[in-house]
Amino acid sequence: MVDLTSMDLQTIPAGRGVAIELSSGSEIIVINTHGTQVLDTWAFNLDDPSEYMSMEHTRSRLSRLSPKVSDNLFSNRRRPILKLVEDTSPGIHDTLLCACNKEIYRELGCDDGHRSCESNLHEALSFIGLEIAVTPGPLNLFMNVPVASDGTIDRAPPLSRPGDLVTLQTVMDTIVVFSACPQDVTPINGAQCIPRDAHYTIIAR
Ligand SMILES: [Zn+2]
Repeated sequence: MVDLTSMDLQTIPAGRGVAIELSSGSEIIVINTHGTQVLDTWAFNLDDPSEYMSMEHTRSRLSRLSPKVSDNLFSNRRRPILKLVEDTSPGIHDTLLCACNKEIYRELGCDDGHRSCESNLHEALSFIGLEIAVTPGPLNLFMNVPVASDGTIDRAPPLSRPGDLVTLQTVMDTIVVFSACPQDVTPINGAQCIPRDAHYTIIAR
């Protein structure tokens, strides 16, 4: 277990996104500081961002809906791009649902100014000078989407606890993007429907 108290923690502000450039072999520890926050997560090959972490390919390679510790996460070219090396949470993460976007918030009655994980992804990438035409399906860390035996899915508050963390290791030079999901209409970010800050720290190779 890593001692976080001595580390330089960076903030993922509630409802916003960050893009982080990491060399191969680095580790990034992402902390669900308040326990209730879903973090939509993407990874792009730094040298060729048309290669990106793909939940479809990850499920295909793992033959499982959701990754566990020691699993690789795969790109749309079926190559490992990240590895899940630590998870202190109950291990409930979603790979099925799309990122929230302005159309979802329109359906929920919000105005077009409502932030979304999709807009957070592209805004965060623009801050490092990158433009990407697509929004890959994210790894939704801490998102609780139970799948029933009849194939229906539900959306429930996270089961993670304050301070639960996930450590991801880069398998190639990678841009990792986190969005602290701004969903404040449904209880996907906890029963209070309040998006919260999360934090991360990097162990560079
Ligand atoms: Zn979202």
